[in-house]
Amino acid sequence: MDRTRDIAIEVVPDAAAAAPGTASARAPAAASAPSPAKAADGRTNIFDLDRPALERFFEEGLGEKKFRAHQVMKWIHHRYATDFNDMTDLGKALRAKLEERAVVHAPTAMFDKASADGTHKWLLGMDPKNAIETVYIPDKGRGTLCVSSQVGCALNCTFCSTATQGFNRNLSTAEIIGQVWVAARHLGNVPHQQRRLTNVVMMGMGEPLANFDNVVRAMSIMRDDLGYGLANKRVTLSTAGMVPMIDRLAAESDVSLAVSLHAPFDDLRDTLVPLNRKYPIAELMDACVRYALRRKGESVTFEYTLMKGVNDQPEHARALVGLMRDFDRRVQMKDAAKVNLIPFNPFPGTRFERPGDDAIRAFQKQLNNAGMIAPVRRTRGDDIDAACGQLKGQVMDRTRRQAEFRRSLQAGGGDAAA
Ligand code: SF4
Repeated sequence: MDRTRDIAIEVVPDAAAAAPGTASARAPAAASAPSPAKAADGRTNIFDLDRPALERFFEEGLGEKKFRAHQVMKWIHHRYATDFNDMTDLGKALRAKLEERAVVHAPTAMFDKASADGTHKWLLGMDPKNAIETVYIPDKGRGTLCVSSQVGCALNCTFCSTATQGFNRNLSTAEIIGQVWVAARHLGNVPHQQRRLTNVVMMGMGEPLANFDNVVRAMSIMRDDLGYGLANKRVTLSTAGMVPMIDRLAAESDVSLAVSLHAPFDDLRDTLVPLNRKYPIAELMDACVRYALRRKGESVTFEYTLMKGVNDQPEHARALVGLMRDFDRRVQMKDAAKVNLIPFNPFPGTRFERPGDDAIRAFQKQLNNAGMIAPVRRTRGDDIDAACGQLKGQVMDRTRRQAEFRRSLQAGGGDAAA
């Protein structure tokens, strides 16, 4: 039974009403600042600029005071305005100057789907040939947005639906923060007042650390009071384990870290997450320890997708407990390592299966008996293919992986990503 409903969304400028107030004092640490991306007509897309970059654009590019940048950020991220003419507290001459030099261009919502459980998924067009997915998951007292960082993914994890589509390109800062803007606008989110969007997880399509600068800059806007005002710990970056970039993230940003572990042994993880051949578990855990030590008092989350007969056996649970205990000891904090158990969400053509409920409970119990908190992530939005590991956009694949996967499906095989 199809329990979904499709709704067309038009991304059009809002007629904003309220006059902006003064700029808030709290801004996250500045992201690295390469030259801003340009729209196709050469104008700067304001969505590409975090607070420091937008201030520079106003001061150096337009010869204006930087508080003007603060006004514009509030119009865009708090009131969802995209037309400079709606920004009524800017003078006419400045609005004309902005019109000439800049645009406010959000991704195009091609469609969205609402799940029976309240989960919401958007397919967002990033250019005429590529689209990505973004998912909103409401829960008691919180609303989490799962954001994509790349069109497809090059890392080719064997149990991942996104991997079967191959890879096209990194998303720009505008395309990443644009996902938050589209969802927040749809939800009627008002930062600091009516928060429907309380958490962001960089766990959608792509490996965020492979698109470091754009992701860090977008996360800076998410955490800025003039952006979406999210606390550092409410923005989580999830990585498959790009070890050098974890260290760089620790130095340049201050967000929560999640690691897609999925196996406690190198030989098994090599087959599930091919990146492990480059950065094996010991190196990955060392980097996580360094990250946790830098963010004293904050835990690191290890995601563990349970696959039937693959990584759900007692020896896997035992080894996982050993890894986590060792992590806690090195960080010198109880429960510094948190484990999220994610029952595998099947997709067409995969060779992996979800374990039965008894097997999932037995695995969890083994972790609990060792004193670990290990919640099993509830499957959300599976009626609209929005559950963990199921995201798929439209990817003009540059890796041939998509074609290989299709060929394998036609041959009755599947799991060409293996
Ligand atoms: S699990 Fe994450 S890192 Fe691995 S292929 Fe999928 S999107 Fe990429």
